Amino acid sequence: MLLPKFEFHEPATVEEACRMISELGGKMKILAGGTDLFVNMKKKLLAPDHLVSVDRIESLAQLDASNGSLRIGSCVKAAVIAESDAVKSAFPALHEGASKLGSPLIRNLATVGGNLVSARPAADFPPPLMVYNAKLVLKSSQGERSVPLTDFIHAPGQTALLPNELLAAVLLERPAAHSGSAYIKLGVRQALEISLVNVAALLTLDPSNGVVTGARVVMGSVGPTPLLSVSAEKALLGEKPSDALFSAAGEAAASDSKPIDDFRASAEYKRAMVRELTRRALASAFDRVQKQ
Ligand SMILES: Cc1cc2nc3c(=O)[nH]c(=O)nc-3n(C[C@H](O)[C@H](O)[C@H](O)COP(=O)(O)OP(=O)(O)OC[C@H]3O[C@@H](n4cnc5c(N)ncnc54)[C@H](O)[C@@H]3O)c2cc1C
Repeated sequence: MLLPKFEFHEPATVEEACRMISELGGKMKILAGGTDLFVNMKKKLLAPDHLVSVDRIESLAQLDASNGSLRIGSCVKAAVIAESDAVKSAFPALHEGASKLGSPLIRNLATVGGNLVSARPAADFPPPLMVYNAKLVLKSSQGERSVPLTDFIHAPGQTALLPNELLAAVLLERPAAHSGSAYIKLGVRQALEISLVNVAALLTLDPSNGVVTGARVVMGSVGPTPLLSVSAEKALLGEKPSDALFSAAGEAAASDSKPIDDFRASAEYKRAMVRELTRRALASAFDRVQKQ
């Protein structure tokens, strides 16, 4: 399958890219690693006249960890995130998400920005980034704004990004002390698999009495967008961790999920998997708090 014809642009800076994006308007698509965009172009779902490649803009390819916060440039590859010691130690659910995305070849091309803007319900980056309350930096020739990831993804393929904006970076704050987190992806195969269901979880405990003071559970592939389970959070807050509590939180998350029957699995099976993956992700997050 051949790609449709297009004109290729390779700006050297974010400012130049923003200028091109607003000048070229709706006939243009931003190109990062191309693992989603080229597939859609080959399938003739998209035929942009211009591609603005942002993949070689140095400032977008940097991952900076300092003073407990993390700034991930939008063009940082999944492989770089998976291999970062700073990510692995402070944001283990993100490490797990990046490590499970596609294959080594795909991870060497796929960027975090492309993954978020593609806004696929089964994508591996949104749930772990959402449990860490990620904020996105969106830039245009008019300036920049910050949007919480929870408000960014509106529907499959639809986001809060305006036509003249590019996603510049993802910002994360290190979770509070005595926190643990984990991400679990279930697919039909072991590798190169889009999630059937995925769950990210974060727990924060009060060290004086062991009670849960913070909790977040985010589920992917069981709704049009990744879903934050308010019921699971309610079930966990103020309680002491136990297998029974994690199972109850799993029940609560399953009740918040909105899976549909499709060729990959029934809604009933996916709901059962939310229950089990939430239980396991919370148990793993708790285990990590205890090992600190
Ligand atoms: C074989 C295969 C396996 C895969 N497996 C997985 C998997 O297991 N898990 C998973 O989550 N995904 C998977 N994917 C999907 C894909 O690899 C990811 O979504 C990837 O992260 C997209 O990033 P990219 O850099 O390739 O984006 P691109 O394809 O370059 O762009 C994707 C979209 O984002 C826009 N865009 C890119 N960067 C920016 C920016 N900075 N600002 C604004 N808009 C931007 C583009 O215009 C386009 O609309 C797979 C894909 C393939 C082909």
